Amino acid sequence: MIKSINHLPKVGDDPDVDAQGLARNFDDLHPPLTHRQATIESQRCLYCYDAPCIEACPSDIDIPRFIRQISEDNINGAAQTILEENILGGSCARVCPTEVLCEQSCVRNHDAECQPVLIGLLQRHATDHMHFPKHPFERGAETGHHIAVVGAGPAGLACAHRLAMFGHRVTIFEADDKPGGLNEYGIARYKMTDDFARKEVEFLLEIGGIEIRPGQRLGDNLSLSRLHADYDSVFLGLGLGTSRQLEMTGEEAPGLMPAVDYIRTLRQTDDLRQLPLARRCIVIGAGNTAIDMATQMARLGADEVTLVYRRGEESMPATHHEQDIAKANQVKLMTWARPRQIRLDDQGRVTGMQFETTRDDDGQLVGTGETFTLAADAVFTAIGQHFDAISLHDPLASELARDGERIHVDDAFRTSLPRVYAGGDCIAPGQDLTVQAVQHGKLAAHTIHQDILAKQEAA
Ligand SMILES: Cc1cc2nc3c(=O)[nH]c(=O)nc-3n(C[C@H](O)[C@H](O)[C@H](O)COP(=O)(O)OP(=O)(O)OC[C@H]3O[C@@H](n4cnc5c(N)ncnc54)[C@H](O)[C@@H]3O)c2cc1C
Ligand code: SF4
Repeated sequence: MIKSINHLPKVGDDPDVDAQGLARNFDDLHPPLTHRQATIESQRCLYCYDAPCIEACPSDIDIPRFIRQISEDNINGAAQTILEENILGGSCARVCPTEVLCEQSCVRNHDAECQPVLIGLLQRHATDHMHFPKHPFERGAETGHHIAVVGAGPAGLACAHRLAMFGHRVTIFEADDKPGGLNEYGIARYKMTDDFARKEVEFLLEIGGIEIRPGQRLGDNLSLSRLHADYDSVFLGLGLGTSRQLEMTGEEAPGLMPAVDYIRTLRQTDDLRQLPLARRCIVIGAGNTAIDMATQMARLGADEVTLVYRRGEESMPATHHEQDIAKANQVKLMTWARPRQIRLDDQGRVTGMQFETTRDDDGQLVGTGETFTLAADAVFTAIGQHFDAISLHDPLASELARDGERIHVDDAFRTSLPRVYAGGDCIAPGQDLTVQAVQHGKLAAHTIHQDILAKQEAA
């Protein structure tokens, strides 16, 4: 997909760009704490009874407990506390928007204290510095049951790990070459550096009893009917694989592409200098993907990055913290404007976009009729992801009840089909966060296990 902007110059074509400087731009956004900083920070925690931060963590981590363990220099104990609720605690420590989750509810989060306890960074300290002689969780005694998990993203991986703890055998069917889902292919490079996503999957698999089969796509070379017949239960952790389109003439023109496709290449390349660079670019959207795209393009060396959103800043799905990151990287935020026409040159390549200004009319977004044009070498769309309907094409899969386009589940992650469960981004809208996908996968594994036990008792 990135070929649609291959006509642009490469990042490395600029003689002023040096590889080290570029690499520094993609270093950790929040550098890790030193041992001394972590000890001091851990002592700021008040170890609240009924701690509000636990309530605010979607994966139920006992936060005061792991912070106390850090303060006692018990790093392995802290890591174990985190991982027993959230096996991807290392990546969540890096990617969770803590400013609207655990840290927001910290009782020290008020002006007099300057800032909440840095829970995310402490979580990272524990998971980065843990040293276990062997995997810290034991695989349960073999049950003889075999579960199919479709999708090796955070939801599928968390589900598989918990099922292994219960003693079930798991096969994960993954469409891509590498496991990890958006941890591997989507998260901004400066949030998850090096090959942390791969290392975390390797760590998770150390429990044993989990096999990953890459290149297996449900709806293509894999069918739900087959999995349903061959396995005791099936968990669907399919994510949201398709980018929403603008639905405008010129959408296929060179110079216009979904932001997630560019980010995917950015995440995978060993040489950032080989990436095509849009010196002037427009990003359409206002969620984390739009912010990540705009910020990363600015860090690659673009001169002018403009993020355009149809409503006001206060309605942007990206948190204030994320918006501040973009602004600190000289990204221009332009609000109350919506795309009207893609501008093309005589070779059919993108030269910019015409926008119409908008306003709120009693809760209704309306165009004002006023237009303006922004010149750009590329336009990146980040207006949302949606469910890849091809995945559920086979006759059994198409019977799954849906909430809109997503898969309908009950409170315990059961779909409308017996022995089929689902979780993560592919189920009814929630927060669409890594930590929530992990929680879904974990809780679904509990339901799968309980349903197997109940069936055994009834037999
Ligand atoms: C650009 C971007 C940036 C983000 N940044 C953040 C962030 O900073 N913090 C945060 O908390 N969240 C962030 N998110 C959201 C977060 O990544 C997701 O909520 C999370 O990855 C969802 O996990 P999942 O397992 O449900 O889906 P995914 O991570 O999407 O994994 C789904 C897996 O299923 C596989 N799959 C899909 N269809 C099939 C099929 N038919 N057959 C077989 N396999 C299939 C996919 O290849 C993939 O491996 C971001 C999302 C995007 C797009
Ligand atoms: S998993 Fe995320 S929300 Fe939960 S404590 Fe850790 S950083 Fe906070």
